[in-house]
Amino acid sequence: MSMKIIENPVEMTEFSQAMVRAGKSIGFVPTMGALHEGHLSLVRAAKRETDCTAVSIFVNPTQFGPNEDFSKYPRTFEEDCRLLESVQTDVLFFPSAEALYPKNYQTFVDLKYLPDHLCGLKRPGHFQGVATVVSKLFNIVRPTDSYFGQKDYQQAAIIRRLNEDLNFNINIHVEPIVREADGLAMSSRNRYLSPSDRNDAAVLNQALKAGVELIGSGEKKAAVVIELMKSRILQVTAAVKIDYINIVDPDTLEDLVEIEGRAVLALAVFFGTTRLIDNMTAG
Ligand code: AMP
Repeated sequence: MSMKIIENPVEMTEFSQAMVRAGKSIGFVPTMGALHEGHLSLVRAAKRETDCTAVSIFVNPTQFGPNEDFSKYPRTFEEDCRLLESVQTDVLFFPSAEALYPKNYQTFVDLKYLPDHLCGLKRPGHFQGVATVVSKLFNIVRPTDSYFGQKDYQQAAIIRRLNEDLNFNINIHVEPIVREADGLAMSSRNRYLSPSDRNDAAVLNQALKAGVELIGSGEKKAAVVIELMKSRILQVTAAVKIDYINIVDPDTLEDLVEIEGRAVLALAVFFGTTRLIDNMTAG
């Protein structure tokens, strides 16, 4: 069966309701398109675990800041459709910005604490945009299950929370980070990198690994581990701007001073104007 493409939100809800009436589970993967293996790993997980796989492609304007890359975010619809067909996606939801945010739109979803860390501090309003669009997509698609990547660690934490707080009652699955052969986390933004930056960007994964190893060998001071990661990155290329490197509690995302149990090492680094994020869990 070929993939069904739906643009209209009402039609999407009707499609889902028919599935639910037929007793089928719906596995939903929200994306912004420019798809790669990371996205496809989420679709494959949905395919394995649910009866009907729905993917959305929507470059959500409300999660981009005024000086961010909304207008130049890669849009590769034809290729995305080909990739989604190749993993037997059942339905693609592809709404317009006007359909999701009509004139007079004024309702937003805000979390109280989780956005006050990591990317949330660097991208004011970003997680309000994410929480709002994901809530809308959950209401439109009405999935039984939804799949997210560990790559966006803070986003996954926020979605788990809003799923509980707003009683969506969806099974939230968070899947491991898919990496290129040299360790760089796959991202739609990797295609912005110059060849030499693309080469240097592998250092992010190496720095995270070095940090996790240092913790494994008994280091408890977060500042010492952060310093090591910083120097690893700057050793390879001084031409980057480190946006942040933090070691945080896996649940609250609060900065750790002493690393006692599990911890998440998270970073964001600019290569030119391209901002890459990555993370790894220790303990
Ligand atoms: P995006 O299109 O960037 O909004 O991402 C859509 C979903 O794919 C999010 O849940 C991301 O966390 C996930 N994702 C993006 N990159 C990767 C990756 N390298 N590995 C696993 N999941 C990813």
